[in-house]
Amino acid sequence: MLPDWGPTTLFTHGTFEPSEVDLAKLAARNVTIEPVAVTELLGTGEKLEALRLADGRTIPAAGLFVQPKTRVASEIPASLGLDFAEGMTGSHIRLVEGAQTSVDGIFAAGDAASQMHNATLASASGFMAGVSAHRSLILDQL
Ligand SMILES: Cc1cc2nc3c(=O)[nH]c(=O)nc-3n(C[C@H](O)[C@H](O)[C@H](O)COP(=O)(O)OP(=O)(O)OC[C@H]3O[C@@H](n4cnc5c(N)ncnc54)[C@H](O)[C@@H]3O)c2cc1C
Repeated sequence: MLPDWGPTTLFTHGTFEPSEVDLAKLAARNVTIEPVAVTELLGTGEKLEALRLADGRTIPAAGLFVQPKTRVASEIPASLGLDFAEGMTGSHIRLVEGAQTSVDGIFAAGDAASQMHNATLASASGFMAGVSAHRSLILDQL
């Protein structure tokens, strides 16, 4: 999406090696790949102007998007023994079916239980977790 806004550089920062397929797709979008690590953000006040790399070069930049690692903030899921899964940006609670976690009778929703972090999805999965919990309270008693 970003190349639609202007010249784009992908700083891999030593975190991953793009595959041949990745490289071809990025080249088709005119994305420059920069494998050398970023060591410093340069600018005046809060305005970003350039990135300094580990080899001393500076690359002018008008903006910077980062992809941080994510994790479930609360200790509660781990203390309940729930399984986690690795997603695109980090770990989240693993769901086995619908909102059901790996521990019977415990349901999870939202960013904590998904690799796609989005308000609409979180809200919808909250509804599903509520329905699942209600259903289990009624049907599991029969
Ligand atoms: C900078 C940024 C921009 C975003 N932009 C968009 C966007 O444009 N559109 C979009 O759809 N989504 C966007 N998102 C994602 C969206 O914010 C999330 O997907 C959504 O908020 C997830 O909702 P949630 O209820 O699952 O989790 P959260 O909103 O993270 O809510 C979890 C809550 O639980 C609380 N909590 C944690 N531990 C405990 C505890 N032990 N006890 C009690 N409370 C606890 C936290 O304080 C928090 O209030 C953005 C996210 C960020 C960070």
